[in-house]
Amino acid sequence: MDRKGLSPGLVFDKLKKFQENDMDYKSGRILGSMCTCAHPVAKKAYCDFLESNLGDPGLFKGTKALEDEVISLLGSFLGCKSAYGHVITGGTEGNLMAIRAARNMARINSPTSSPEIIVPKSAHFSFKKAADILGLKLMEAELDENYKIDLDSVQELISSRTVAVVGVAGTTELGKVDPIGELSRICNEKNIYLHVDAAFGGFIIPFLKEMGFKIPEFNFKLSGVSSITVDPHKLGLTPIPTGCILFREKKFLDVMSIETPYLTEKQQSTIVGTRTGASAAATWAILKYMGKEGYMKIASSTMEVTNFLARELTSSGFELVSEPELNIVAFNSGKIPAKELSTKLKQKGWVVSVSACPPAIRIVLMPHIRKEHIVEFMDDLKSIQKSAL
Ligand SMILES: *Cc1c(COP(=O)(O)O)cnc(C)c1O
Repeated sequence: MDRKGLSPGLVFDKLKKFQENDMDYKSGRILGSMCTCAHPVAKKAYCDFLESNLGDPGLFKGTKALEDEVISLLGSFLGCKSAYGHVITGGTEGNLMAIRAARNMARINSPTSSPEIIVPKSAHFSFKKAADILGLKLMEAELDENYKIDLDSVQELISSRTVAVVGVAGTTELGKVDPIGELSRICNEKNIYLHVDAAFGGFIIPFLKEMGFKIPEFNFKLSGVSSITVDPHKLGLTPIPTGCILFREKKFLDVMSIETPYLTEKQQSTIVGTRTGASAAATWAILKYMGKEGYMKIASSTMEVTNFLARELTSSGFELVSEPELNIVAFNSGKIPAKELSTKLKQKGWVVSVSACPPAIRIVLMPHIRKEHIVEFMDDLKSIQKSAL
């Protein structure tokens, strides 16, 4: 640390140097991320609320009202306008809060000395963190031939130790939607907490359904669903960090609330204490600005690019892992192993990700990726494939 400070000009010059080493979504070369450029409306709202602290809501009553409105707006397209919840940092925190609520409920209703949660093998790694932090055993249910949670496997894993079952609406690797309706029926019957991880799918499935896409129900309309994670900082177009956790009933927040002696509110259910109101303001702004129609447009244009890529790949002899359900395409070359292919693509400036189950090149067609990027990408991909012959 220098004794004398630098001038603002010098500070920002130096910052710029660091930023020059970052990739930029606009380049169209980031093909494996679930994040994208934040919308200018959301960015402006975010900056306007930078100093608000939702950890002390008595001081920021306006921002607290914004958070409440965001939860109810999201609830309205997730089947429960009266949902309770919070705007938080992302899907990881949302899943951690949901599993914490489920574990604490079980402590009251059906105590067990060795609590377990059941998640599909396709679940996001945040559940491994949640299980570790909360002292739970993670039981992984098998997948069926369509890479969705296998219901027989879930039934076999359920026991008196089960505190929650998790279904995923839009898996991280393949964008698959688990049969949440059936999970809801099973969980109702056995009186088990069901959490739906729609971190990725929550901002696209409702809008695709509105446009007539045949995707089964996944939200609070199913009576067994107790909580839903949804991430505005993915397809919701807000700046990072913005996630949301919604609960059907207030008791799920109460069961994990802690007394907060020195603050303006008496109880707090969030994991984070001091927390930004900027994410709530940005989400409120973008929801109001976009309306259902705005998000329907995003959903349909990303699916168009998704289908374009899928067709280009199959007509050029690449193998799709399965037909894309949401805006994620996973494929293999048939000649070059996925890891090696991803390295070759990187050398040409394309950053894809490699899925683990099954191993494949995974491309997330976020709104910053346009058809012209896919055309260029296919040229490079085909030339790599040819050179492998
Ligand atoms: C992205 C994602 C998460 C994790 O969200 P973060 O915002 O990265 O913490 C959890 N679940 C699913 C299904 C996701 O796609």
